[in-house]
Amino acid sequence: MTGTLYLCATPIGNLEDMTFRAIRILREVNVIAAEDTRRTRKLLTHFEIHTPLIRFDENCSAAVSEKILQRLQAGESVAVVSDAGLPAISDPGADLVRLAIDNDIKICPIPGANAALSALICSGLNTSKFLFVGFAPKSKKNRREFLQRLATVNATLIFYEAPHRLKNFLSEAAEVFGERQTVLARELTKVHEEFLRGNLIELAEKISEPLGEFVVLIEGQASEFVAPAEDISTVVEKFLEQGLDKKSAMRETAKRFNVSRREIYNELLAVSCKL
Ligand code: SAM
Repeated sequence: MTGTLYLCATPIGNLEDMTFRAIRILREVNVIAAEDTRRTRKLLTHFEIHTPLIRFDENCSAAVSEKILQRLQAGESVAVVSDAGLPAISDPGADLVRLAIDNDIKICPIPGANAALSALICSGLNTSKFLFVGFAPKSKKNRREFLQRLATVNATLIFYEAPHRLKNFLSEAAEVFGERQTVLARELTKVHEEFLRGNLIELAEKISEPLGEFVVLIEGQASEFVAPAEDISTVVEKFLEQGLDKKSAMRETAKRFNVSRREIYNELLAVSCKL
């Protein structure tokens, strides 16, 4: 009989978030595949878990996954853990899950802490529709295009971002999303946990040298913006009311709808012809 692959959550800061089940499973499995064995060793020591560890990070070759598969096929059980939170969420694990599925290995979640959902439930933003985005691309050009593609999504957007890139990220996001309601969830479950709320442009200006770990949540596009011509003119008008000249208002609207300025111009012509 083949073994089971467990995807096991670990705390994102507060050790009390380790579940009873996680402790039991980590004690019972034959081996724990960990993103950072030194870091996981500390967690295991704290909970008096003596299971052997092997390294399983994003730089591991496919050969490591194959070795884990062989152990599972030989009847051993394996738990995957990342440095914090859920494995396979912006962390290693997803490829191994696919390999296990392809080989009819039983997979079992051990739920627990996760930064994105912990931030979302305290954000005050729409929790019924959300899109987990994770890390935006590092290259400026790719990041801009990536953000623009999200501009019309009618759901709360959840990003992860490293502290040293946060200021840049917020400024660029502000250019694309404008004044949308935004929440920065900082150091969740830790001593300095805090939620900074406000409009994106103000938050981007306020943040200087952020410390700690952050989840960024941005309000989704309001659904009334999605329809074409009339909404485009509404958005242009809003920008004009904010004091932008006609050219800049059309440029900002084009960015928001991820279309060319010429298309905005044509839509405005179409609307005024109808009137
Ligand atoms: N697998 C993890 C999970 O389930 O949340 C996410 C790992 S990802 C490599 C790390 C990112 O998650 C950080 O850069 C930060 O954006 C977010 N994060 C992790 N722990 C956090 C915390 N305690 N408070 C705020 N954000 C956190």
